[in-house]
Amino acid sequence: MTATDTKRIFVAAMATETNTFSPIVIDRLAFEASFYAAPGAHPATATLCTAPIPVGRKVCADKGWTLIEGSASWADPAGLVSGAAHVGLRDEILTQLKAAMPVDAVVLGLHGAMVAQGCIDPEGDLLARVRDIVGPDVLVCAELDPHSHLTAKRVAAADFFVAFKEFPHTDFVDRAVDLWALVVDTLEGRIKPVMSTYDCRMIDVFPTSREPMRSFVDRMFALEKTDAQVLSVSAIHGFMAGDVPEMGTKMIVITDDAAAHGEAIAERLGQELFANRGKHMMPSMDEHAAVRAAMDATDGPVVLSDMWDNPGGGTAGDATVVLKELIAQKATGVAVGTIWDPIAVQLCMAAGEGAVMPLRFGAKSAPLTGDPVDAMIKVVTLSETAEMVFGESVVPFGPAARIALLDTDGNEIGIDVILNTVRAQSYDPSLFTAMGIDPLAQKILVIKSTNHFYAAFAPIASEILYCSAGKPYPNDPATNPYRFVRPDIWPRVENPFMQDD
Ligand SMILES: [Zn+2]
Repeated sequence: MTATDTKRIFVAAMATETNTFSPIVIDRLAFEASFYAAPGAHPATATLCTAPIPVGRKVCADKGWTLIEGSASWADPAGLVSGAAHVGLRDEILTQLKAAMPVDAVVLGLHGAMVAQGCIDPEGDLLARVRDIVGPDVLVCAELDPHSHLTAKRVAAADFFVAFKEFPHTDFVDRAVDLWALVVDTLEGRIKPVMSTYDCRMIDVFPTSREPMRSFVDRMFALEKTDAQVLSVSAIHGFMAGDVPEMGTKMIVITDDAAAHGEAIAERLGQELFANRGKHMMPSMDEHAAVRAAMDATDGPVVLSDMWDNPGGGTAGDATVVLKELIAQKATGVAVGTIWDPIAVQLCMAAGEGAVMPLRFGAKSAPLTGDPVDAMIKVVTLSETAEMVFGESVVPFGPAARIALLDTDGNEIGIDVILNTVRAQSYDPSLFTAMGIDPLAQKILVIKSTNHFYAAFAPIASEILYCSAGKPYPNDPATNPYRFVRPDIWPRVENPFMQDD
C-alpha cells in the first residue's frame, strides 16, 4: 500500500453468464450490443455486474481517494464466449491495470459463470493475472452473481468476494456498497478480512422469493449484523447450465481474521442448504396442465412463465411448445411476450402494420424447443426500438412485431404474440405496453423467464404458474449430458457426503 493517506484503487468489470449447452456464441459485438463502457465512460446508473464502478466513484469521492476506471463489459447470457472476445477484454483490463500501478486495491465486477473457447475459468484466469501484476499484498476483491462457479483458482487469487443475496437480483447495488465498505475498512486498517468457503456438493435453483431460501437469506443478513466477527455472508447458488468441473453450490463467509469461526459457519449454513436439497425450486407443471389451469382461472391476468426458455439463462427464447398448447386448447385473451425470431420480424416489417399474411415463426434455434408455428397472422404493431424497464435500467428487445393469430376465416383467435430481434428475458410488464398490449386486460400472459420476472409481475398477476415445457435448457442436473461437471454432487448421486464414509 502507498504510504500516504490517499489511496489509489483500480476498478473494472467483465461479465456474462455462459450456458455451455447454448449454440449462440458471444463475440465482441455481442458485448458491445449488450453493454460496453470504455474507461471513464460508464454511465452513472449501475448495470447488473458493473455496480462496483458507479458505487466506487461515490466512495472514492467521499474519501478523497483516486479511482482509476478500466473498461466494463457485459454480454447477455448465451453460449461460449469467443476466444478473441475473451482475450481481448481480459488483456484490455490487464493493460489498464499495469498503467495504473501502483494501486492499493483492485475491485472487480464479475458475474462468475463465463466460459470461453479455450478457457474454462475466465474469471479465475483474470484474477490470477491481476494477482501476478499487483503482488501478494494488494487487496483484490470482486462482486459476483450467485449463479457462478466458485473455483479454487479464484479463491486463491482474491482476498474476498461478495455475491448478490437475492434471486431475483434486486440487490446488486446494495452488495456493491457492502463490497466497497469492506474495501474501505480494510485499507484503513480497521479489519483483516479472511474468506472461508464451504462446498455444499450439490446443484439446485434457489429463488429467494419463496421458502426455504427466503428465511435462509434473512438469516445471512442477521448474521452479518449480530456476529461481530462476521463481515459478510454469501451463498453461491451455482449455475447448472455451465458444464465446468467446479460447478455447484458453495458458501462464502468473510470474517475479521477468524478463519476457523468462518469455516464453521460456512459449513453449518452449507449443510442447511444441503438438507433442503430439492425443496428450493418452485413447483412447476407441464404445458398441458399449465394452460388448462390458466384457462380455468376466474380472474386475470394469469402469468404463465415458460421458465426454462429463459434468454437470461442463455437460451434463444424461441420455444413454441407453450404457444402450440394454447392454440390446441383454444385459449383466448392471450398475449405471448416474447418469441425470438429476427427473420419473422423482418418479414413483418416489410409487410407493414395491418398486413395479413402467412408467417412461419419460432423454434429455429435448437432441438427440444418445439416446431416452428405456421399461421395466418395480422401485423398489429411494429417497433424498431422496443424496450422494457428492469428496475432502474432499460432493456431493449426490438426491432419487434406484435402479431395477432387468425383463423381460416381471417378472424382473430385471441392470441397475440410479440416477436423480437434482440434476445431478452421477460423482466417486466412494460414489454407488453411497449407493443400496445394492456397486460391488465389479458387473461393469460406468457413470458420467458425463470424467476427474474417475479418482482415486477407478481403485483399485477392474479396467479403465477411455472411451466416446464420442452427442454430448451439443461434443467435437470441428474440427467443433463455433462462432460466436465464432477459426478459426485447431488443430484448426480443421492448423498455425496455419505460416499466418503
Ligand atoms: Zn444470476
